[in-house]
Amino acid sequence: MAKVKTHHEDCDVLVVGGGMAGTGATFEARHWGRDLKIICVEKANIDRSGAVAQGLYAINCYMGMQWDENQPEDHVRYARNDLMGLVREDLGYDMARHVDSAVHMFDEWGLPMMKDEKTGRYLREGKWQIMIHGESYKPIVAEAAKKSADKIYNRIMVTHLLMDEEKENRVGGAVGFNMRTGDYHVFRAKTVIVAAGGASHIFKPRAVGEGMGRTWYAPWSNGSAYALPIAVGAKMTQMENRIVLCRFKDGYGPVGAYFLHLKTYTQNANGENYEKKWYDQTKELVGEYIDHHPTPTCLRNHAFIQETIAGGGPIQMVTTEAFQDPHLETVGWENFLGMTVGQAVVWASQNIDPKYTNPELTTSEPYVMGSHATCSGAWVSGPEDLSPPEYFWGYNRMLTVDGLFGAGDTVGGSAHKFSSGSFTEGRLAAKAAVKYIQDQKAENIKVTDKQCEDFKEAIYKPLENYTVGQNEITGGTVSPSYILPIQGLQRLQRIMDEYVGGIATNYMTNDNMLKRGLELLEWLQEDLENVGAEDYHQLMRAWELKHRVLTSQCVTEHTLFRQETRWPGYYYRGDHMKLDDENWHCLTISRRDPKTGKFTMEKAPVYHIVDEKEKKEAS
Ligand SMILES: Cc1cc2nc3c(=O)[nH]c(=O)nc-3n(C[C@H](O)[C@H](O)[C@H](O)COP(=O)(O)OP(=O)(O)OC[C@H]3O[C@@H](n4cnc5c(N)ncnc54)[C@H](O)[C@@H]3O)c2cc1C
Repeated sequence: MAKVKTHHEDCDVLVVGGGMAGTGATFEARHWGRDLKIICVEKANIDRSGAVAQGLYAINCYMGMQWDENQPEDHVRYARNDLMGLVREDLGYDMARHVDSAVHMFDEWGLPMMKDEKTGRYLREGKWQIMIHGESYKPIVAEAAKKSADKIYNRIMVTHLLMDEEKENRVGGAVGFNMRTGDYHVFRAKTVIVAAGGASHIFKPRAVGEGMGRTWYAPWSNGSAYALPIAVGAKMTQMENRIVLCRFKDGYGPVGAYFLHLKTYTQNANGENYEKKWYDQTKELVGEYIDHHPTPTCLRNHAFIQETIAGGGPIQMVTTEAFQDPHLETVGWENFLGMTVGQAVVWASQNIDPKYTNPELTTSEPYVMGSHATCSGAWVSGPEDLSPPEYFWGYNRMLTVDGLFGAGDTVGGSAHKFSSGSFTEGRLAAKAAVKYIQDQKAENIKVTDKQCEDFKEAIYKPLENYTVGQNEITGGTVSPSYILPIQGLQRLQRIMDEYVGGIATNYMTNDNMLKRGLELLEWLQEDLENVGAEDYHQLMRAWELKHRVLTSQCVTEHTLFRQETRWPGYYYRGDHMKLDDENWHCLTISRRDPKTGKFTMEKAPVYHIVDEKEKKEAS
């Protein structure tokens, strides 16, 4: 331990994670806090980090208010519909009313945007999406953050938040380690904005063994965005609302451009429109929600899953018609070049030319996110001009821990933000964080050296476990004294897969399975005291695993609490197969007591702010 070098950095605004939300936060913090010290800490390198690392082909959230294409109210209704009624409309509206300005900045900064030749407007892919040549998307927003921050720290994994010892429930910074040098980093900060992305690899992926890194969601997104706040007792919301994606099989290539731009459609192995077949059965489960337009994402998954269980698979995307048009054929291929080159490689390796063969689709394992067609994450304050009292406690996007803010996948209740909305939410959080400092709310924060030293000991313990435990190995890699991160990860994935509604059970779970899952997770948690890491890379794996397990516990508690099947196609409660608006038209909130590790659950009301506002205006 004596060998580990410690670096100290004191700052005003600390941004954890330099993805879309983190770069937005870093940029905006400088705008409002000219004289403040702003630091961004990133696990990878912000030039190519997060879910947008490889680039994107479409910006999925753009209102087009300047041309009256959409208004924020429309987006709230859209997200509400897709999430089966349950979103934080104040957060969604707030993001939507600001998102266009963020996109206009991307344009100014040099992101190649596709334009409609006739109108001169951004080229639409669908109602909300605009098309870009987006390979350079991430380096462009990273540059804005680099120019704004006092310092960007790359290759540092943040493992814990520091807490103020003077005032209860106030944040004091964060600590982590450099994965290349092994150095320990202490960041004392007046405010912290967590923007560390969502969680993949908590459920067992379809691709295992050699292929286990092949998931739809970024494999390096390990739930730090959830584990960091959960560990300090911040409230979380809608953590049961994990997402399952329908994508091209094996490469997980995106289907949005295919549906929206190429007008391709799906069919079962017999060439039938299987979605129609499951209409009556779905109506039995969810009532009139199946008649909503557009059909909620989970319900489309539901038809896919039921058809596959009934033996109608493989399900295919009909590309052979659209690909006869040379322009659409080009668009179809180019769609992968900007974001998922791997899908083109998979098709090449399997002799699939979509002009002549309809490629197969699949449903993914579940992921936890707050920015896609799903809204798991932290329970945050909304903006003061929109939020009812239950949703507002002083500073926009502040969690229930003072001085701790969130954005992007971190924030729960506000779905369909995507890349542009996450960047925008980072900007909103940073503006509020600066105001929090300017309002003198972050005075006299005390973080003692002892707190930092205690974390240091905990962080490097896996290296110690390995060094001591390896002496007991007589052959192979199995030690009686430690488990390796990969072993712990596989154990976690099986628990989540088999008990919490993964692919093994066709996304099915129930009260008994969830309780058993929680028991197994608790034992895994205990065993992680003995995780062993042979080098700094494995130390990162060990901490990623710990964050994944904490996130998984929270997901499982939430899934147990909500006694209905709100989103068939994302998961099923076999003991409560129907949607139950009478008892569960509400948001779920959890809090883990940092001292006991026990979760408590509560319900919070859903306010349909947009249409209420309109009703009032009309009357
Ligand atoms: C496969 C896929 C396709 C998508 N397609 C589109 C699309 O076509 N159009 C669109 O608009 N949006 C798309 N999105 C959505 C968009 O990518 C996300 O909404 C957005 O990236 C979320 O921003 P974020 O900052 O919350 O997370 P991210 O952008 O993922 O950033 C999180 C950052 O935190 C860092 N980090 C994580 N843990 C730690 C830690 N412990 N310490 C320090 N740093 C840490 C990560 O390295 C990463 O840089 C897609 C997402 C996925 C996964």
